[in-house]
Order: sequence, then structure tokens, then C-alpha cells
Amino acid sequence: MFSLKNIAVIGAGTMGNGIAHVFAQNDFTVTLIDVSAPALERALQTIEKNLDRQVAKETITAEKKAQTLQNISTTSDLAGGVQTADLVVEAATENTALKLKIFQDLDLHAQPAAILATNTSSISITKIAAATKRPGKVIGMHFMNPVPVMKLVEIINGYATEKSVTERIAALSEQLGKVPCVVNDYPGFIANRILMPMINEAISSLYEGVAGVAEIDTVMKLGMAHPMGPLQLADFIGLDVCLSILRVLQDGFGNPKYAPCPLLVNMVNAGYLGVKSGEGFYRYEKGNKDLIVSDRFK
Ligand code: NAD
Repeated sequence: MFSLKNIAVIGAGTMGNGIAHVFAQNDFTVTLIDVSAPALERALQTIEKNLDRQVAKETITAEKKAQTLQNISTTSDLAGGVQTADLVVEAATENTALKLKIFQDLDLHAQPAAILATNTSSISITKIAAATKRPGKVIGMHFMNPVPVMKLVEIINGYATEKSVTERIAALSEQLGKVPCVVNDYPGFIANRILMPMINEAISSLYEGVAGVAEIDTVMKLGMAHPMGPLQLADFIGLDVCLSILRVLQDGFGNPKYAPCPLLVNMVNAGYLGVKSGEGFYRYEKGNKDLIVSDRFK
């Protein structure tokens, strides 16, 4: 069996640059592919900045930083970029039609034996796999944000994923210093199936006036030893992302228990999306690391 050495990463956003970083730091050859040239440029800058931080903390040497950067090349040409890949990890925008098209293209241009993985948070692996002529070689490889820091890789078996493919991706995740956890392909997989109802319940508790933002987050931080309260975590993930994953759970299971809280829907409609928009349950000011509860919840 050939070893997985050449990796192509599709999408150079938040997750793609982290995934490229981790593979390159572990001596894999990485081609980072994005339709947007500025996104590729930004990704390289982010990777360099994160490597600098690791050098400053003395977790890697300056030579390791240089080698890691050397292991990464970038292109906007998907067909050419995936030609020699043994594994493709897709981390493009979370949109079903876009991912189905990317996987059709990957199937055409990647070597027949190449494994095609997706980092999707919520789209069915089985559906993505069915867009290719190699569903047995399609798998979910769900890294967590920020990728260089977080230990978990949730590996998701599609309905047709071959056992040997799962085993290889699990072994590869360990090679990256991560802990793989294999689950099956049902809405939300495990991470979001459990996390999103918790976040939704926290928002409902706020909506119903049971407690305030700071109280809800403090109970969960100090009472359950969570590093971050659910409302702060929702702001960090993006309230629009939380809403869209809850809709996937609601549609996929047809169970009203997943219905998103009306307050979450209102906030997303109003453009209060959390950290990325500057305000959600908390208010985010440049240069200020304090947690400031949004005036709307005071
Ligand atoms: P992002 O918006 O930061 O980046 C997406 C990138 O994909 C952009 O740079 C965009 O230009 C690029 N892209 C769009 N269409 C493309 C195409 N046809 N070919 C190549 N590149 C294309 O998104 P993100 O937050 O990095 O999320 C990427 C994936 O990872 C999504 O499936 C998301 O659900 C999943 N995910 C995100 C997180 C998170 O916390 N952000 C966590 C786990 C999983």
C-alpha cells in the first residue's frame, strides 16, 4: 500500500491554512489550493505568524519553521494541484452545491487511488461521496479550530467508506500528533450533534430570562469545567454557522428538539454574528481582550 505523502488542501481559509500548517510541520508535501489568490497570500502570512509564535515559545526551532514553509506550495489551479496528491483534504466554504462540484472535479483530476477527505462540519459525507465514482475512498476528516492547537480529528465514515481508508486516515491523524475518533455519518456527526443543542439551550435560557449572559457562561465554565461558556463559544464559532448546523440537525432528524431558538434567528438576521461581526452575546473591541457583555443583554 502506498504511503500518504503528497497532500492537497482545497480552501485556504480559517481551516485550510491550519490543516496545511499541521501537515507541512509533520514533513508532508502540501499543495494549498484556493480560487482566491488573496486568500492564498493571507494563508501563508497566517501560517508564518503562527510558526513564529511556536518558535517564540520554543516548541519548534527556526529551522523547523523554514522547513515547514518550504513544504507548502500554493496554486489556484485545482486540476493541476491535485494531480500527484495521495490525499486531498477539502476545506472550502460550507456550501453543499459547491462541495458536490469540487468532489466531481477531484474525482476527475486526482489519481484513482487517492483518498478524498472533507472537513465539512455538517454536510453528509455519504452525499458528497455519491458525487464521485469512488465513494469508498471518500471520508470525513473533521479538524477542530484552531487546527494547530486542537487535538481531535473526528473521522466520519460515509455509508460506503472502505474500512482500509478509515484505518489509514486514523493512522495518519496520529502521525500529525492528533487523536482520531471514528464516527458514522448522521446529521451533525458527534461533535455538533451534542455541542449545538447545548449552545441552543444556553441561548433559550437567556431568551426565557432564566439567567444573564455572564451567569450562563460562568455556570458552564466553573460548574462543568468547560474552558469557555456556550455563549462565548457560539460567538467564536459564528452565530450564522451555529444556526445553519441546527437547521441541518432539524431537517436531518425531523425532530423539533433541534429547532433553533428565535433569539438566535433574530441575531443572525440582524447581522450580530459574534466575533467576526464585532458583536454577538459579547462585544469585541480591537486590542481589548476583556469579555464585555453586549449592551443588549445588560
Ligand atoms: P473560510 O470561509 O474561512 O474559507 C473557505 C475558503 O474556501 C475561502 O478562502 C474560499 O476562497 C475557498 N473556496 C471557495 N470555493 C472554492 C473552490 N471552488 N475551490 C477552492 N477554494 C474555494 O471557511 P472555513 O471556516 O475555513 O471552513 C472551511 C470548511 O471547514 C467548511 O466546510 C466548514 O464547515 C469546516 N469547518 C470550519 C470550522 C471553523 O471553526 N471555521 C471548524 C470545523 C470545520
